[in-house]
Amino acid sequence: MKGAILRRDVVGIVVCPQGDPNQMDSTAIAAAARKGAHWSVKTNYRLRTGSFAIMFASIGLHGWEKAYSPALWSLIALQLLVYPHLMYWRARRSSNSQQTEASNLVIDSLLFGLLVATLEFPLWISFTVYIASTLNITIMRGARGMLLSQLAFAGGALVSIAAFGWHLSPDTDWPATVLCLLGNTVYMVAIGLTAFSRNLQLRKTRESLRQSERTLTNRLSEIQDLQARLQEQASRDPLTGLYNRRFLDTIAGREIARCHRDHQYMVVMLIDIDHFKNVNDTYGHQAGDEVLKTLSALLLEKARAADVPCRYGGEEFILLLPGMAADIAMVRANQWRNGFADKVTLFGATSIKATISIGVAVYPSHGETLVALTRSADLALYRAKAEGRNRVVMYEAEMDAPNP
Ligand code: GH3
Ligand code: MG
Ligand code: MG
Repeated sequence: MKGAILRRDVVGIVVCPQGDPNQMDSTAIAAAARKGAHWSVKTNYRLRTGSFAIMFASIGLHGWEKAYSPALWSLIALQLLVYPHLMYWRARRSSNSQQTEASNLVIDSLLFGLLVATLEFPLWISFTVYIASTLNITIMRGARGMLLSQLAFAGGALVSIAAFGWHLSPDTDWPATVLCLLGNTVYMVAIGLTAFSRNLQLRKTRESLRQSERTLTNRLSEIQDLQARLQEQASRDPLTGLYNRRFLDTIAGREIARCHRDHQYMVVMLIDIDHFKNVNDTYGHQAGDEVLKTLSALLLEKARAADVPCRYGGEEFILLLPGMAADIAMVRANQWRNGFADKVTLFGATSIKATISIGVAVYPSHGETLVALTRSADLALYRAKAEGRNRVVMYEAEMDAPNP
């Protein structure tokens, strides 16, 4: 059963060895049903063949004493020795063996009613066949099955009474009685054993399903972890570990909306390393990378939980600082600028120092969208560069005026 998935449907439980129940269409199910009948069909076949043979012996003893006619003997032999195989054959060739078997049980009751009335209701024989047929259908179909069995049994008896008249001779000799009791006992024990073995199988199936569920849950959480890691990687710049531009684009709208709702300011800072080309030209590209990492580490170190530091591209960085007013922004920007100017990047034996220029724009006065705010911050940065670099400049409206 390991690795298999159970599918519950009209034919009961069908084991799909490949695991995907959806791949089993109705034709496949019918084929599976034909190939191997439902367990209840096989169990009933064994029970029916065995118990009917015992009944044949009991009725035989009784009939010997009553000197039944050859025609009656033939009917009894047909019902008790041949009929069980016919019923099994009927259920096996059906595409819904479980349902066919349920109707077989109703036919059992009907024929038993017919038989006991024809035999003039011998008490022990009548009791034995009545209780056996009622019990079996009740196990399989519950109260509704039990009711059907009673109706079928009574119906069968009525047909016989209508055909042959009402006769009652309930006495049975002790050999037939003993055989009936024996048959009853064997039948009950067989049903008990079958129920026990089904219980055992169900327990195993349940355990295997629980195991599959645990495996699936683990797989799911692994996939979720992987998804979270991939998402995190997709939003980060691999060199510096800062957020990338794509992440900024996805988060900016939400942050602006939140500041708008809470009547808060938000600052956008554009940071650019001064004469970075010289750093690359003098110390090499790898040394330049180390300088980029030094600045990123500083930005991360001094960032608040709500701040979003991103690498905008090349040696340019953009900071989204929700809930920050203009005066505080200038203080913070100068702290970063001074901090970086004091920082030394070690590359092998070489110590590299560099400075940054920062352009600052504030929501909502300098722009109400990320694009507008970035444009304003870029104009301020341009002014910082023009005024000699290593400085912080706040956007002003006159920066929009075209250059003379
Ligand atoms: P300015 O003060 O006007 O900003 O001068 P600058 O030299 O910094 O300006 P420019 O934009 O001309 O030079 C930026 C340089 O940054 C050019 C490019 O080779 C370099 N660069 C871009 N991305 C990377 C990177 O990932 N690693 C390194 N080492 N260099 C990079
Ligand atoms: Mg640049
Ligand atoms: Mg630069």
